[in-house]
Amino acid sequence: MSEAKGMDINMITFDSQYKQVLTSACLKCKDPYFAPAHPVMVHVGCCSYSPVFGLFEIYQMIKAGNSEFFMESIYHHRSATIMQYEIIINAEVSPLFYEQKINHLSPIEKDDIRLQYSVCQFFKQQKGCTLPATYKNSTCRSFICLTVEEQLDDQTQAELKKWNTLIKQEVNAFVEQHRLELQRRSLNLQTNVQGVVDYLKSEVGKLA
Ligand code: SF4
Ligand code: SF4
Repeated sequence: MSEAKGMDINMITFDSQYKQVLTSACLKCKDPYFAPAHPVMVHVGCCSYSPVFGLFEIYQMIKAGNSEFFMESIYHHRSATIMQYEIIINAEVSPLFYEQKINHLSPIEKDDIRLQYSVCQFFKQQKGCTLPATYKNSTCRSFICLTVEEQLDDQTQAELKKWNTLIKQEVNAFVEQHRLELQRRSLNLQTNVQGVVDYLKSEVGKLA
């Protein structure tokens, strides 16, 4: 592990078992972009995000023998937006957001403000992320904010890039292969979720 400039040597590590980047900096998140908008709000840092679950994460749930979790906590989640091969679980937005006078702002500026009033549905106070590491998407397993990244030395920044590539490549290769096969079979999450689940179950024995 490379030592980060002026930081604890353990500030950033790669968990090779679950292919995720970890940093102790999140325990005291100081990133201004991800600061909550209001003092009554919990400071969740970048867990204000709305995670997107794709075929790779759904496959991980099925492989773990937990297709019920996928159906109940992802597919039927009250905040789910279901697309053909991805499901967004929209973050909980504080009612305080809707009191803001932001009609004059651009959509991007509004989204940035909304983020400051948002909390991921899987974040629990005192616990952090409640998802098993294998169910987290590649963004959740790889994202490191600029505040942390800028404090890393060059070697650690290069390692971070390498870890990100490793995480994304595995997911992208899986998604590309299986989305094509599902399209060939006319199966998607919007019209035949059980067909997609059955297909991914049938792949469990074939893939490592
Ligand atoms: S990665 Fe950065 S923004 Fe996210 S929780 Fe950690 S310190 Fe905060
Ligand atoms: S899924 Fe977990 S890691 Fe990802 S944003 Fe939500 S709480 Fe954070």
